[in-house]
Amino acid sequence: MLNFAIDALIFDVDGTLAETEELHRICFNRAFAEAGLPWSWSVAQYRRLLTTTGGRERILRWIEEVEPERAARLAGPEDPFVRALHARKTELYAEGVRAGEVALCPGIPELLAQARALGIRLAIATTTSRANVEALLDAHPTALPREWFATMVCGEDTVRKKPDPEVYRIALARLGVGPVRALAVEDSKNGVLAAKGAGLAVVAIPSLYTRGDDLGPFDLLLASAAELIPLIGR
Ligand SMILES: [Mg+2]
Repeated sequence: MLNFAIDALIFDVDGTLAETEELHRICFNRAFAEAGLPWSWSVAQYRRLLTTTGGRERILRWIEEVEPERAARLAGPEDPFVRALHARKTELYAEGVRAGEVALCPGIPELLAQARALGIRLAIATTTSRANVEALLDAHPTALPREWFATMVCGEDTVRKKPDPEVYRIALARLGVGPVRALAVEDSKNGVLAAKGAGLAVVAIPSLYTRGDDLGPFDLLLASAAELIPLIGR
């Protein structure tokens, strides 16, 4: 049990509700294969490449590593070759999400169902776009029905991205719940910092791509969402 009763659970999306990063990796590889390129990123390679922010920048870094002669001919991350690869990857990702290829994180369906049964309200606080969030929910209508979420604060709703606490402040305001009556669930340091900045207690659950990272000033570290289920009873 937690040492306080919660009225609301607020979830990050990428890496918390779903392992979205894994489909990003797969779709980079699909775009490379379609273009006849002999590149295929493993989980370990992609984990390393994720230290570069931005898809085009990540592709360019890879080319610099494996084909420096090709990289020397490119005009940076905005080069048409890089832009076309990234644009195709983005299309493939959207198709994959709609087709239900994003796996939900372990224990998430059971945790959401139990929270609902206990009358705990659910919310989303993410800096990803609303279109991405809605596509994910629509692809999982049984585990993630849209109407289960009292509010969804997405990238378009904030001026500043995590680790700024804005996204959590908006979620709390829309829920009409004080920070001491809600709990945030996050998989990354930036997310934990954002929730703590809004005064929330935070459960950190590492995802496939944040395992082993410094997750910041969390209150509780769990291996999966399933471990949270017995703690939210009141
Ligand atoms: Mg995340």
